[in-house]
Amino acid sequence: MTDCIFCKIINGEIPSYTVYEDDVVKAFLDISQGTPGHTLVVPKKHVQDIFAYDEKLAGEVFARLPKIARAIKQSNPDIVGMNILNNNGAVAYQSVFHSHIHLIPRYSTQDTFS
Ligand code: 5GP
Ligand code: ZN
Repeated sequence: MTDCIFCKIINGEIPSYTVYEDDVVKAFLDISQGTPGHTLVVPKKHVQDIFAYDEKLAGEVFARLPKIARAIKQSNPDIVGMNILNNNGAVAYQSVFHSHIHLIPRYSTQDTFS
């Protein structure tokens, strides 16, 4: 989609800090870090929300989460947990309408995300 901010990030038209990338997903740091390392996992195919996935894409995207979560965890020994969140629809606080999964690391030390 031409006016989608995450399609532009995937295409390289808008810069981002890439955490992981392959043929199915791009994972990049959220511009607003809930905690350090807060990452968005985004399917390269434009799908609006969970209601628009077919089973194949859902399997491909969700199968990648453990690997990406481990990579984030291994980046800092203080990361001891992680919230995984997915908002669908404005009423559920989705603000970018290209589906994405938040990976929010949680630290043994105090952090700012409540
Ligand atoms: P949502 O509220 O839709 O679940 O989450 C959208 C997320 O996208 C927000 O956490 C917001 O900070 C992030 N975001 C919005 N615009 C950009 C951008 O241009 N670059 C990056 N890296 N993140 C963005
Ligand atoms: Zn898009």
